[in-house]
Amino acid sequence: MPRIAVIPGDGIGREVIDQGLRVLQHLDGERGLDLVFEHLPYGADRYLETGTSITADEMQALRRYDAIFLGALGDPRVPTSQHAKDILLGMRFQLDLYINLRPVKLLDARYCPLKDRAPEEVSFVVFRENTEGLYTGIGGQFKRGTPDEVAIEAELNTRKGVERIIRAAFEYADARGLGRVCMSDKSNAMRHGHDLWQRVFRAVAAEYPAIEASHLYVDVLTMEMVRAPDRFDVIVTNNLFGDIVTDLGAQLQGGIGLAASGNIHPGQAAMFEPVHGSAPDIAGQGKANPLAAILSAGMMLGHLGHPDLEDRIERAVRDCLQADRVTRELGGTLSTSQVGDAVIAALDA
Ligand code: ATP
Repeated sequence: MPRIAVIPGDGIGREVIDQGLRVLQHLDGERGLDLVFEHLPYGADRYLETGTSITADEMQALRRYDAIFLGALGDPRVPTSQHAKDILLGMRFQLDLYINLRPVKLLDARYCPLKDRAPEEVSFVVFRENTEGLYTGIGGQFKRGTPDEVAIEAELNTRKGVERIIRAAFEYADARGLGRVCMSDKSNAMRHGHDLWQRVFRAVAAEYPAIEASHLYVDVLTMEMVRAPDRFDVIVTNNLFGDIVTDLGAQLQGGIGLAASGNIHPGQAAMFEPVHGSAPDIAGQGKANPLAAILSAGMMLGHLGHPDLEDRIERAVRDCLQADRVTRELGGTLSTSQVGDAVIAALDA
């Protein structure tokens, strides 16, 4: 009985998670997956009422679930976003979810901003390192607020951290028969940390001789993702560059309402979430596109051992896109829950 922690969070997170759950429950009913959902109230409301975002015990308890399904965190009533940092970054760092897996897959050519691109030409995954790099907060400020102010942000790269994300990318490619892994860094300018990436990449690549290993500086990568996205199967990169290039990738696949993600530590904990935030501007109005959350639910089923159901959800989402059964930001007329209805109908078709 897979146990799933459900954290709807804030804003449209709650609306899109509802639709993701409907899809999961529909497939559960059909296939007898015996999924057990436990709703957890972590988010802005709780933070504002109690002053607590998530306790150390609650964070540790998340390890006991087979997966975590998260909506979004962020609320204008908490301008510092402290609760979001505690919960989201807390999960990534404390549960050591070192793989941020972001598929970039175009499901319907009409939604791609590049001209004349067929869906199969935009189909790759990004492995973003999720626990190190420039996001650890190491650094400091000196003489703050004076003309002599100094601010240092340190980039952390450990051999263990670099090796495990690169290895995960090759393992993924190997398991799926994907022929190409591209590592991206800025080793021409960042000569210490990214030299480590270079050396580790060469060493790990040598263990996978059947996979073509290539390297691009990140500035070139961004150009190539636009010019020739078909040259990529798997991209692996650090935390900051991964953050940026996956948002570029989200646009290539049709926008932030279609981008799904997983935060994974193989064999331990895994959390799945749509890439978009809580979108306070449209929260509570039934306008949110739930497809990213539904695709994230699909990734979660794949992770729980049901890759056939992940494929089926993806096909149902593609059918909805092709039939214009989408929300307004994609040019449709449907509400959040009507898109959920449409996906369920497409699953059964
Ligand atoms: P955060 O919660 O991380 O601060 P945000 O919600 O302000 O982020 P994004 O998630 O990047 O930012 O969204 C930016 C805008 O894109 C939103 O304000 C909203 O208008 C739109 N948007 C985001 N997600 C969706 C969605 N699922 N459906 C429709 N529109 C969306």
